[in-house]
Amino acid sequence: MYIVMLGAPGSGKGTAAKILAKRLNLPHISTGDMFREQIKKETELGKLADSYISKGELVPDELTINIVKDRLTWDDTKNGVILDGFPRTKAQAEALDKILEEQGKKVDIVPELIVPDQVIIDRILNRATCSNKECGAIYNIKYKPSKVPGVCDICGAKLVTRTDDNAEAIKNRLEVYRKNVQDLLTYYKEKNVLVSITPKDPTAENASEQAVDEILK
Ligand code: ADP
Ligand code: ZN
Repeated sequence: MYIVMLGAPGSGKGTAAKILAKRLNLPHISTGDMFREQIKKETELGKLADSYISKGELVPDELTINIVKDRLTWDDTKNGVILDGFPRTKAQAEALDKILEEQGKKVDIVPELIVPDQVIIDRILNRATCSNKECGAIYNIKYKPSKVPGVCDICGAKLVTRTDDNAEAIKNRLEVYRKNVQDLLTYYKEKNVLVSITPKDPTAENASEQAVDEILK
């Protein structure tokens, strides 16, 4: 099953994507994570991506499409993937369809997580992520804290704050999201794969699990 998760930054799409990936035993492909990995390794691609990401702007389509295209040639993707943060533009959506089409596949379902703005901003400003790439657990200092502050419950690694999780970059990321998502909603609505998910209580500790239950219903 090929799933494309849509949702604003901080909507919980990343957490939901991870849960979905585990439940369906499919790889979780997050372009944001892929870029952050390159930035950490200080590769040329990382440096280039960082010049956009740190400002809350989108990395250019060509670059983004190429890394996803490469990832989708891996053997672990043949039964499906959970895409998180890609596509973000119509050009990317079209490119994805083309890549999948060449493999005789298609996007099966596109859940869109709908969460109020205030919750989003609150969430991002309080977000902490496990620095261990294999784990990547996401916490919220207010709503979903780790047992020991600054330490991951699951693996014990240090929790870190993303550099683009600051008020200025968030504002920009939300604007960029709104501007681009309209095209994607239209695109996937026409293909009859869009499903709107509105978590009943988005601040509940198990909000992401609930969203996933809703998606798999
Ligand atoms: P969020 O959804 O919270 O913004 P992501 O980890 O999905 O977080 O993305 C972080 C940043 O990485 C984005 O603001 C953007 O700069 C870049 N990025 C991620 N995915 C894409 C994409 N598909 N196209 C362009 N830029 C991307
Ligand atoms: Zn961890």
